[in-house]
Amino acid sequence: MTDRFVYLDHAATTPVRQSVVKAMEPYFTDKYGNASSPYSIGRESRAALDKSRDAIAEGLGVDSREIIFTAGATESIINSIIGAYLGNRHRGNHILTSSIEHPAVHAVLDFLKEKMDAETELVDVDSNGILKLDELESKLRDDTVLVSVMNVNNEVGSIQDIKAVVGMCEERGIMVHSDCVQSIGKMPLDLADLGVDLSCMSGHKFGGPKGIGVMYVRQGTHLEPICEGSQEFGFRAGTENVAGIVGMAVAFDEAVKGQAEHEVLHARYKQQLFEIIRDAEPAAEINGDLETCIPATLSVWLPGCSGEMLVLALDRANVAVSTGSACHTGAIDPSHVLTAMGMGRLEALGSIRISMGHTTSQEDIDRFGEVFAGVYEQVKVSAG
Ligand code: PLP
Repeated sequence: MTDRFVYLDHAATTPVRQSVVKAMEPYFTDKYGNASSPYSIGRESRAALDKSRDAIAEGLGVDSREIIFTAGATESIINSIIGAYLGNRHRGNHILTSSIEHPAVHAVLDFLKEKMDAETELVDVDSNGILKLDELESKLRDDTVLVSVMNVNNEVGSIQDIKAVVGMCEERGIMVHSDCVQSIGKMPLDLADLGVDLSCMSGHKFGGPKGIGVMYVRQGTHLEPICEGSQEFGFRAGTENVAGIVGMAVAFDEAVKGQAEHEVLHARYKQQLFEIIRDAEPAAEINGDLETCIPATLSVWLPGCSGEMLVLALDRANVAVSTGSACHTGAIDPSHVLTAMGMGRLEALGSIRISMGHTTSQEDIDRFGEVFAGVYEQVKVSAG
């Protein structure tokens, strides 16, 4: 009998829901019309697209015209940040972001700095991965055009006070972009209430397919379309991915409906997971604070251990978790999130991330409990 596969890396991607596969299927077979075509199967695709857009807009508390479909959050981030910069270049060239953003945000800002004369600055976080709001305020300038701060961090799950960020920026006429990729299905989210100008989400993070996402552009936001065309209100050229959009809308609906229940379950599982780890390694510590992190994500430091080796050893026991560190050309870099939280290189490299989602069950946690101590012991012994 093969061991149960335990998937605890939902922050990386999620299994596609069966309902999503079922809803998408007709758009690959019978309903293959181009949503811009005037005849019946084209109109059918257009209707499905409109319905999906309305459902997602309603779930986020915003207007349908503010929802732009893209090929994922990375594309949304590129279009939002470059578009906001170009559309407001006359007002200044200064952009602020947190030190713990997803690499997609940092990469766009590096591009703007190198190629388009932007001045970019990072704002620090505290040891729990929470943005230092006073530092943000002190760094705002007359020529600041954009502030980009993620809602929930993908490595430790820390939740930022986006309303406070918006409050500071609004009175100075500065736009706010907030990456909400890790929020959907994991905490309540109302974009209109947050008050941000720009945001993004990604279908594959909540049980939808990969390669489909949303860019949220609040009405009245001045954005230069960098992928201009006739589709998606002029913000995103290209034939729409109708199957992906339909699938993402179904996944979104289920994620939002199940959110409260999952939040309670994940909080319980998180506690159990940490106890299992603590039993094996009494010196283990949580990176971040339980109070200010979403329940679905648990980042743990195991002193003296290699996170990379532990992830590989757990994989051999059929358990999937992640390190959060990036591997470039054979050298392993410590996570920029953990180092920004003040951890040293070795501490950051000795951490693992466990993340839960809609399929996570008590059986998964129990199985994790059965294998963890043995696997951890092996890793410690082999590391000498
Ligand atoms: N932002 C965050 C916080 C993420 O976790 C991810 C995915 O890893 C992305 C952006 C990029 O999303 P996508 O895979 O849709 O490009």
